[in-house]
Amino acid sequence: AHLDRIAAVDGAVHAFLQVDTDGALAQASAADERRAAGSPASALDGVPIAVKDVLATKGLPTTCGSRILEGWVPPYDATVVARLRAAGLPILGKTNMDEFAMGSSTEHSAYGPTHNPWDLDRIPGGSGGGSAAAVAAFEAPLAIGTDTGGSIRQPGAVTGTVGVKPTYGGVSRYGLVALANSLDQAGPVTRTVLDSALLHELIGGHDPLDSTSIDQPLPALVEAARQGATGDLSGVRIGVVTELGGEGYQTGVLARFQESVDLMVKAGAEVVEVSCPSFVHALATYYLILPAEASSNLAKFDAMRYGLRVWPEGIENASAEEVMRATRDAGFGDEVKRRIILGTYALSSGYYDAYYGQAQKVRTLVTRDFEAAFAQADVLVSPTAPTTAFRLGEKVDDPLAMYLNDLATIPANLSGVPGISVPSGLAEEDGLPTGVQILAPVQADDRVYRVGAALE
Ligand code: GLN
Repeated sequence: AHLDRIAAVDGAVHAFLQVDTDGALAQASAADERRAAGSPASALDGVPIAVKDVLATKGLPTTCGSRILEGWVPPYDATVVARLRAAGLPILGKTNMDEFAMGSSTEHSAYGPTHNPWDLDRIPGGSGGGSAAAVAAFEAPLAIGTDTGGSIRQPGAVTGTVGVKPTYGGVSRYGLVALANSLDQAGPVTRTVLDSALLHELIGGHDPLDSTSIDQPLPALVEAARQGATGDLSGVRIGVVTELGGEGYQTGVLARFQESVDLMVKAGAEVVEVSCPSFVHALATYYLILPAEASSNLAKFDAMRYGLRVWPEGIENASAEEVMRATRDAGFGDEVKRRIILGTYALSSGYYDAYYGQAQKVRTLVTRDFEAAFAQADVLVSPTAPTTAFRLGEKVDDPLAMYLNDLATIPANLSGVPGISVPSGLAEEDGLPTGVQILAPVQADDRVYRVGAALE
């Protein structure tokens, strides 16, 4: 049914870069047999899933939305993918994304943009717009995204889906093509909070192949979602973050957010206002740390090891350096080049202290603000994204306007805390989806599921 739905609507939505029809059908019939025999591999055995094209899939092309990886077929599965296969979930295909996960609209994909199923002239968020659109358009019941600065949560908000960024280290990064190693996390994209909890429990937990993986059991996420679904939040302290609202946020987004807070109060929660003064610097901090890490990560695309190789025109016996230059010139898009230049600059010896070093200090302040806020509240809440889905083309040539979409989501990545975005209704002025973000302390992912489920 999902393959039929993809065939019917993906021409217009373009959520997928690859659809693995034969593979998905074979995995589905194997799941049918296990179920008929009464021995399903997991709670989600046989439930199809879409995977963001930044995770390595053995035998299935993995492009990261970039020309430079065109034609690359990984010889191994990312741990997340291996766990999906072991749990019996048929993989429908790979979803579209901004090139190397840099962007907030999926317009930076080298393979053309994804369209928001709510209004095909609008963006589905980014960088994981493909995963969110696939779920929103009923092409897949579940998807995997990755979130370095909001790429699961912001697409969730603007497509009316649920998206979770787990605690840093809670889900293995092995086989996830790194954008910024200290910020990246893979996580669920679904239609309900309980679905995310079920999926998170399957993909999460310790992995010896990832040196930053937390060697502790996951909190009880499904149980927390079920508890929240009873609608009782008594005893839960909710902190509304002063700095994540107000100026720069669309009126209808703020109105729906206030409604969500009112719902929490009705459910018995206690609401307090908390201030995190350093959060106003989080965006600037992120846009130094991220390009710095990304510029180093992208150095491996050298025309020798993976994918594309371009021979420079008119040069006979071109040197390795000349081939590398021609390949990187043709293979990387503008946003990727911009960040390589920014990152290389921020890391260069004369500027290191002034930029990268300074950003690391502010990162510590963000973590301290979180600690102080979590002493006053069990979870923190804000709108997930400052606006609803904007029109395709509206911000693509204005990097600063594009970066501002991440205002509310970035602090969580800088400190490794978990966050969820849950639909909070349609904005009155444009009838488009909005989302509420719920953040919890490191390793307290269960709290975002409890509070998130109470809002459904
Ligand atoms: N919009 C952010 C960026 O462009 C999101 C990145 C992400 O989470 N992958 O960096």
